[in-house]
Amino acid sequence: MDVKAEIIKNLLYFKEIGLTSIPASEAIKRLLQREISLEEDSLSALKEKIIHCKKCSLHRVRKAVVWGEGPTEPEGLMIISEYPDRDEDFYGKPFVKEVGNLLDRMLNAINLKRELFFITHTVKCKTPGGRPPEPEEIEACRPYLLKQIKYLRPKLILALGFTPPKVLLEGKTLTLVRGKVFTLKETSLFFTYHPAYILKNPGIKRVVWEDLQKFRKLYEEIFLSN
Ligand code: SF4
Repeated sequence: MDVKAEIIKNLLYFKEIGLTSIPASEAIKRLLQREISLEEDSLSALKEKIIHCKKCSLHRVRKAVVWGEGPTEPEGLMIISEYPDRDEDFYGKPFVKEVGNLLDRMLNAINLKRELFFITHTVKCKTPGGRPPEPEEIEACRPYLLKQIKYLRPKLILALGFTPPKVLLEGKTLTLVRGKVFTLKETSLFFTYHPAYILKNPGIKRVVWEDLQKFRKLYEEIFLSN
């Protein structure tokens, strides 16, 4: 039996029936209060779980779990990237330095800005030497991304890079889905290349520009059409 879970369940029951105090030491009260507040706020609970996660071997090489940043009001915009690079791991934030600057320029070019998006990664920890994540690492982290989407209920997602379609479209490749619109319940999904890939392959800039124009149109249809 999970004793902690049983205690929390009982305390939540006591709370529901109107009990406002319990005989316990201050340390136990603090622990229980923390658990109860986490039960009440699902996105915060999820964040707490993710930042302490050791579900796959990537926890051994990371400096920080990059949980995400941006507005958490539901029905907004979301960017889903691949996995943290060395700089993101160092700062604990998505899209920093040169790659972050390019993302800002891409969004500015279509009159959007990063502050409008909740930005997260498909896999929340960096990989050794920046290699693509292994299938078992993607699988271990997958529920976190799906729960973030469930809580945020974004109306529109811009997915960047090769890893997001593997999770969001059941293993489909970016080549197959790039520049097209997909739906996941109430959410529209749009896929294109990651800024880090564009920096290494400047020849794809024109294609990405065309994708961004399509994304802007989609944004207007969803958010500005009323
Ligand atoms: S990559 Fe995801 S599943 Fe693996 S340790 Fe990090 S947060 Fe946990």
